Amino acid sequence: MTAQIRKSGGTVTIHRIELPTPFPVGPVNAYLLVTDSQRVLVDCGPKWPLAQEALLNGLRQHGVTPQELTGVLLTHGHIDHVGLTSIFQTHGVPVFAHPDVNTWLEPRGPWDTYRSAFFTRLYTTMGVPEDFVSETVQTLFLLNQWNDRSVVDVELTDGMEFPLIPQFQIVEVPGHAQAAIALWDPDHRLLVCGDQVLPTISSNALIEPVLTAPSGETAARTKSLLDYRANLKRLNAFNIQTIYPGHGEPFHNASALITRRLEEQVERREAFLDLLRTEQSATAYQLAVKYFPRHRSQLSLIMSETIGYLDWLHAQGAVTVQADAQGVVTWRIVG
Ligand SMILES: [Zn+2]
Repeated sequence: MTAQIRKSGGTVTIHRIELPTPFPVGPVNAYLLVTDSQRVLVDCGPKWPLAQEALLNGLRQHGVTPQELTGVLLTHGHIDHVGLTSIFQTHGVPVFAHPDVNTWLEPRGPWDTYRSAFFTRLYTTMGVPEDFVSETVQTLFLLNQWNDRSVVDVELTDGMEFPLIPQFQIVEVPGHAQAAIALWDPDHRLLVCGDQVLPTISSNALIEPVLTAPSGETAARTKSLLDYRANLKRLNAFNIQTIYPGHGEPFHNASALITRRLEEQVERREAFLDLLRTEQSATAYQLAVKYFPRHRSQLSLIMSETIGYLDWLHAQGAVTVQADAQGVVTWRIVG
């Protein structure tokens, strides 16, 4: 899909370049934004030969070589969006992203150690059996094979203009990932939003460590689903016409889809509440494997999902939470 946006300062053309990935999510989107003076790539796929070939072919079809890009913008730090960043950075193309995306661009570095310690403690306190804890944490870091080292050159945060194409404003979109930004064009009510809103699947609000602790062992965790809902409500007030998502086709009537996602979350919250009524009390792990019996192999995803809904029920006063002497947390229905 190619879209042209006419502005008093010129025209921006958005080309979608779909890239294969080796992940269950399927293909990922990169976008090439072209103006008179700029050639900006938004996201760049995992470091995987088939993705690289598709990306370079896609750029070639639009008459752009990697060296001719004037910037790479990363919507968030997940590997299916950032793995190939280094092939452009080595050509001197500046990388634009939220500052904390840096923590995703250093595979096998100190932030991996931090995350590994954090998730080991998180899963242990959420009642995951010991064998699964190490297996799940190891699986997370196997993903490093699709990543490469790079660094954010220009940090973008909420409310800034995108310096290369100032008609786009930067909007932070915490939820699916904490360090996540979208490009918002208020004149055309158009949002390039990474994985925050996807057309055919609901995005996971992934639990992450808060990055300010001295080590992963002591890092607090995010309440990602609550952040995600707050951000979806904020986006809904933008009256967005068109979304260019990180996976799947660009789509119109974005507000209707965002409203539907918010409603689906309410339904799932009620389902978790019913489950907890039956169980009376349980660890997040016990609830996760009951609610998602066929997704045990994707433990990190189902744990984020379950903890997110428990956070929500807790914020509503529907459940209490208590840790035992070992720190293992039990959630109990109120009343
Ligand atoms: Zn993602």
